Amino acid sequence: MCLKRTAFLVGLVFAFTLNAQDFSFAKKLHNNHVEYKVAGLDTRRIKHDEVIKNINRVKEENPSFYKVNLIGSSVEGRSIQMISFGQGPINVLLWSQMHGNESTATRALFDLLNYFSLNSSSDEVQKILSALSIHVIPMLNPDGAENFQRENALGIDLNRDALRLVSPEAQMLKRIRDSLDADYGFNLHDQSRYYNVNKTPKQASISFLATAYNYEKEMNEKRRDAAQLIGYLRHINELFIPGHTGRYSDDFEPRAFGDNIQLWGTRLLLIETGGFAGDREKNTGRLMNYVLIGSALESIVSNSFKNVTEEVYWSIPENDRKLFDLKIEKISVDYNGTPYVLDIGINLNEINNNQGFSVLASVADRGDLSTYYGYQTFDASGYKLVVPKVYNKKIRSEEHYYKLLSNGFAFTLKSRRGQSYALTLIDNQYPSLETSFDKSTFLLKSNGVISKAIINGQILEIPDNE
Ligand SMILES: [Zn+2]
Repeated sequence: MCLKRTAFLVGLVFAFTLNAQDFSFAKKLHNNHVEYKVAGLDTRRIKHDEVIKNINRVKEENPSFYKVNLIGSSVEGRSIQMISFGQGPINVLLWSQMHGNESTATRALFDLLNYFSLNSSSDEVQKILSALSIHVIPMLNPDGAENFQRENALGIDLNRDALRLVSPEAQMLKRIRDSLDADYGFNLHDQSRYYNVNKTPKQASISFLATAYNYEKEMNEKRRDAAQLIGYLRHINELFIPGHTGRYSDDFEPRAFGDNIQLWGTRLLLIETGGFAGDREKNTGRLMNYVLIGSALESIVSNSFKNVTEEVYWSIPENDRKLFDLKIEKISVDYNGTPYVLDIGINLNEINNNQGFSVLASVADRGDLSTYYGYQTFDASGYKLVVPKVYNKKIRSEEHYYKLLSNGFAFTLKSRRGQSYALTLIDNQYPSLETSFDKSTFLLKSNGVISKAIINGQILEIPDNE
């Protein structure tokens, strides 16, 4: 058979496999999310009291539908609750926010609980409820969530405590998994916004893993089921955010929960929500978690995922970590009188504070960054980096501000804090090139004119004054 014809047939088979699934439930969830989205969960820094409030609300709205159990408390004494519903023989356990600063799935789970409760008599929900018993632990690490940090109050990463079980939160998860002998487990996390889909500039907005249960990364029947279910979810993710699906590394970590839960006999799926351009608070990730988790439950019932081959899972491109918030390409930097051409990768880091967070930019890397990508990229070929001067007087107007930038000012002394226009605060009256890198603040000059400013990692166009 000629090559062309083979390729045509392979294409046809692939298209047929895709068409065999109509993904109508996923599409429905995607369309109706806006109706079931719980108010007050639009940002990532949610705390324990928000979770309790929402658990009480779902219970009050439909008292007979959900069973809420207090399953224990955290190191600092915050309650951890599990919401159960459905009467079926297949046990599904979902937990979120094992890492306190990874809240996207928690928010999506409440949206989904809302959907199930308000549609409890519909045929499709009835079908799910008669086949499954669903158990949701939304926020396994409330102490970590309180400070928006990964670890619990003891500084322990709960996902490295599955063997020693020092933390009460880890003991709880193990006890619940064992008592249910869960058939399916959903380990719900967030990953860094700097993960991309391998060799592409696209953010790995959703990454999946059918977690390995030994160093040899063997496949058994249950891990294969998890991989096929992920293959099914991959198609769904690609339907809505094409190119944004990654596969998480399956290196075995003997202390991690996912790895052990797979070993203990539960079909375990890891879902990691990454970044998405223009959506720092991860509302797209929240929507996709709602769609993916809901669709997974439906597929477990209908067995539709069994029509997807394991190969679909393995063909998901791997995750890589090659993104910056801002990538400046090929800027000329003067060092002791010699020009050097560099790429500069800048990240906008979040510093927790009482209002949520403030952004503090840092230069994450510089040099040849041709294998990296940016949420935002600027080709600075032909531009020279100018280290800004310090301006310590009051800025009178926007026009004055831009005039200062184009005249080479972008720093101000810390003692001048409180300017209403953005200048970067420093201690030193005479900044150097290192100050510029340290503060991610510099000006861009070409043909003798400063036309752009980078202030604390944010690129700013300076309007032409002529
Ligand atoms: Zn995590």
